[in-house]
Amino acid sequence: MTEDVARFAAPPALAPGIASANCLVCGGATQPSHPPGLVACTRCGFVSANLNLTEEDIAKLYERGYFHGDEYLDYVAEEESLRLNFRARLRTLARIAPDLHERDMFEIGCAYGFFLDEARHFVRSVAGLDISGEATAYGRGRFALDIAQGDYLNRPLGKKYRAIVMWDTVEHLQRPDLFVEKIHVDLEPGGVLALTTGDIGSLNARLRGAKWRMIHPPTHLHYFSAATMRLLLERHGFDVMHLSHPGISRNLRSILYYVLVWRTRKSGLYNALSRWRVFDLRVTVNMFDIMYVIARRR
Ligand SMILES: [Zn+2]
Repeated sequence: MTEDVARFAAPPALAPGIASANCLVCGGATQPSHPPGLVACTRCGFVSANLNLTEEDIAKLYERGYFHGDEYLDYVAEEESLRLNFRARLRTLARIAPDLHERDMFEIGCAYGFFLDEARHFVRSVAGLDISGEATAYGRGRFALDIAQGDYLNRPLGKKYRAIVMWDTVEHLQRPDLFVEKIHVDLEPGGVLALTTGDIGSLNARLRGAKWRMIHPPTHLHYFSAATMRLLLERHGFDVMHLSHPGISRNLRSILYYVLVWRTRKSGLYNALSRWRVFDLRVTVNMFDIMYVIARRR
């Protein structure tokens, strides 16, 4: 844990982009928005970070540190909580798609494979892709999963799927519109896309403004609301079947880490307190600002 904190570092400084690109959701014009540093579409309200990232910048963001302290406390150490959250999402998905057990599933951004290792009990087959070579090697080695390192947009899947999932990933993508377009191609008609992301239209996001915990470019590039997510999906041939704001299970240590290290940079205090066993306790937190969306391909 101490080692992970030591590896914590601020993301690289990146030059602001030019707020001239059209909205990825509706094609409207964008203009500087509140909170400062972001841009919003004048037509549909879609909010993005005002950054131009190169492929090299992006690759740097997702080196090993990303899953070990930079953004997640320690993704592997959080395994038990992550699996609980994933099982809850799978149960919801099985309610919307009652034949889920007959479907082949593909996960974009599968990380270490914890979700797919749970999902194999709910679907016919599982496969996935992640930008992190370290994470996918771990998942192949430990769970014998069919997962690979790579970039989804440049990767033919070789078959059609009836379920594609993308957890807490869409906000990281440079071009979520191109992902949704390709997902439409990779799904059979009637196939489902399930995803989670922050909801910038939520009460908590609106109250917190620039301090909303989901606003951290350059890893989070896009900030959907229920309305802009629905619009993006509908424009690409999907019907939204489900939209909810589920709570997530975390252990207290990860919350302590978030408050002391991620937010206020008090690593010493964190290291002293985090040894206490009480921080192993798990709680369910719901700020009602993370949305779970399930859409069906037309
Ligand atoms: Zn727009």
